[in-house]
Amino acid sequence: MIAEVIAIGDELTTGQRLDTNSQWLSQRLGELGFVVRYHSTAADDLASCSEVFSQAFTRAQVIVATGGLGPTADDLTREAIAAATGRPLEHNAQVEQQIRDLFERRGRTMPDRNTAQAMFPRGSCPIPNPHGTAPGIALRLSHAGATRHLFALPGVPAEMFEMWAGTLSAELTSLEGAGQTVCHYRIKCFGVGESQLEAMIPELTRRNREPAVGITVHQGTITLRITARGSSRAVCQQAMQATIDEAQRRLGPLVFGQEDDELQDVVAGMLADEQQTLATVEWGTAGLLARWFAGVEAARPFYSTGLVVHSAEAAAGLLGLADVGRQPTSEAFAASAAQAVRERSAADLALAVGAFCAADSALQPGRCYVAIASSDGVTTQQVALGAHPAILSPLTAKRALNLLRLRLLGDEAIA
Ligand code: AMP
Ligand code: MG
Repeated sequence: MIAEVIAIGDELTTGQRLDTNSQWLSQRLGELGFVVRYHSTAADDLASCSEVFSQAFTRAQVIVATGGLGPTADDLTREAIAAATGRPLEHNAQVEQQIRDLFERRGRTMPDRNTAQAMFPRGSCPIPNPHGTAPGIALRLSHAGATRHLFALPGVPAEMFEMWAGTLSAELTSLEGAGQTVCHYRIKCFGVGESQLEAMIPELTRRNREPAVGITVHQGTITLRITARGSSRAVCQQAMQATIDEAQRRLGPLVFGQEDDELQDVVAGMLADEQQTLATVEWGTAGLLARWFAGVEAARPFYSTGLVVHSAEAAAGLLGLADVGRQPTSEAFAASAAQAVRERSAADLALAVGAFCAADSALQPGRCYVAIASSDGVTTQQVALGAHPAILSPLTAKRALNLLRLRLLGDEAIA
């Protein structure tokens, strides 16, 4: 069943507040098997709101709206539904009494304006709101001969969550055609560009494939998101497994993890497996490696030192690198820094990132050197910096981590 989420409020259309309700509602609808094909957002304006409702009736079977059910003059959702459906608003005495009782329990008298919250489009039912004054609106209607299920909820997130759990979840599950389970699984990859990776698995990312495979990229980390629909979780999981196996087989060591894994989580796990300790020293990456490892609980026993140097004096004083410390963009600096921090911290492995060498021209990307020191000596690698300046540091830190991961995998050829 196709679903649409409608968010209403000036604070959303002006960008003062992020529309987190639509995100949350889409996740819940997806879990129940609905395909959320549209998000609409309208300002607190009667014509705009009624227009988005009218449009939603033409293209979605289930419509869930959030916001605009309050008692003030800018809360127009009930009027908009009345206008879009041609149903007059009718007073519900029982709901008004419930609102009065709620005010009384809070030791206050109900202001006259709140009677507006007891007005409902003809034929609709109130959706109980245990901790708020605004009940929701549930309305089943017919549009061009087809049934539409409309639910309007308040914008206050806590009230909306409660009303979803108390009423919508069960009502939506009972709708004919609903009740399919949707499962997702994420495969995390690093080491090539998005289009290069897609070219390795063209049949998997084909549109309308079941299970579906989508690709997103964030600061160099590529996520393959597998989505399956079926009658149960077990059916979905079984349907996804062949796709997961195929993607892993094709992509090999480009795959570093799954679900919420980040490179540092995976590297920390490998260090633990091998009982190896790690020290890092970084110049160009602004302390990202140190910050990331500090955030991984499992890394604590294995991450001994995270050094950030930003001056030749620091390189000389902390690492004893008086000469190469004056050329932090050089290969020699990265190699010496890795060796020095390994020795001084007595770690098994050390990872060093040198300073960035700026791009010479649009065609000549910048670069920096990464080095890994171990008991076998030191290896270096030049990393080209062809990315947007805003993501240069995280991308370089991830490339350094990925080199270490491949080294721990014993697969340096891919590096
Ligand atoms: P309303 O029900 O329109 O009176 O909204 C009440 C409050 O809920 C607003 O002032 C916002 O703080 C919050 N809110 C409304 N809509 C949203 C939304 N789509 N996402 C997140 N918060 C919202
Ligand atoms: Mg509002």
